[in-house]
Amino acid sequence: MNPPDGPDARFDSVSFDDASSDTASSDTVLFDTAFFRAWITRVADAVEAEREHLTALDSAIGDGDHGANLSRGFAAVMRTFDVSSPRTPATVLVLTGTTLISKVGGASGPLYGTAFRRAGQALNDAPDVDLAGLAGALGAALAAVRKLGAAHDGDKTMVDALAPAVETLDKAVLAGASPRDALTAAAAAAEAGAEATIPMQAHKGRASYLGPRSVGHKDPGAASTALILAALRDTAVAIEGGHSGADAGGDTRSGDGGEHDDGDDTSGDDTGSDSTDHVA
Ligand SMILES: [Mg+2]
Repeated sequence: MNPPDGPDARFDSVSFDDASSDTASSDTVLFDTAFFRAWITRVADAVEAEREHLTALDSAIGDGDHGANLSRGFAAVMRTFDVSSPRTPATVLVLTGTTLISKVGGASGPLYGTAFRRAGQALNDAPDVDLAGLAGALGAALAAVRKLGAAHDGDKTMVDALAPAVETLDKAVLAGASPRDALTAAAAAAEAGAEATIPMQAHKGRASYLGPRSVGHKDPGAASTALILAALRDTAVAIEGGHSGADAGGDTRSGDGGEHDDGDDTSGDDTGSDSTDHVA
C-alpha cells in the first residue's frame, strides 16, 4: 500500500516523513486522535494485566483497591469511547479524565482524572499534536497532580514517576530526539522513578499513616503512572513499526477529504461532553 504523500499523510496515526515541510524539523511527527485513543486503549489493557500487581502494592501500604479501581475506571473509559467517539486528541484525554473522575473513588480517580483532563485542555482541540505539544500536555498533567495532591518530589507518590518522565521528555524535545527515542526515555524515567519510591517514606495519602513502615514498598500510584508512560512508548513504537494497534474500532473519520478545518468539537450529537457523563 502506498499512502498518499500529500496533506492527507498528516492523518496517518503518526507520520515519520516530513509531512508538513513548513515546520522546522525534517521528521515532524504528528499524533492524531487515533494515536491518543490507541494509547488509552493500551493503558486499559496494561491496567487489566497488572491489576493484581497493583492491588498487591496497594495492599502493602494502602487499602488494596488500586488495581480494581483503575481497572474499573479504564473499562468505563473504553465504553465511553464506544458511545461517543472522540474527535480530537484533546477530547480523547478530557473524556478519559472525566470518566475516571466519575468512576474511580479514593484519591486516584480525582488525581488521574484531573491529570488527563488538564493534559487534554492543554491541547486546545488541535487535530494532531507534535512531540512538543505532547510534552506540554504531560507537563500540564504533572502541574495539576502536584497542585491537587499537594505532593512534592520524594513524597512517595505518582509525582515521583511522572516528574522525571516529564523532565526527560522536555529535554528530549529540546535535543530534537525522535518521538520513539523521547518516549522510550520518558518511560524508562517513569519506571526508574517508580522504583525509587521503594526506599522512600510516604508523606502523602494513606501510606503516610504508616510512617517509617511505608519504607520498602513501591508506591502503587507511581507504579501505575509508569504503566501509563510505558503504554505511551509502546503506542509510538507500534505505530512506527506499522502496527497502529488502533484496532479499538469505530474511528468515524469516514471519507473526509483531508480538510480538518472543522474546529467545532461539538458537531453531531455526540458532544463529548466534559461534564460528568455516566455510560454504564
Ligand atoms: Mg487504595
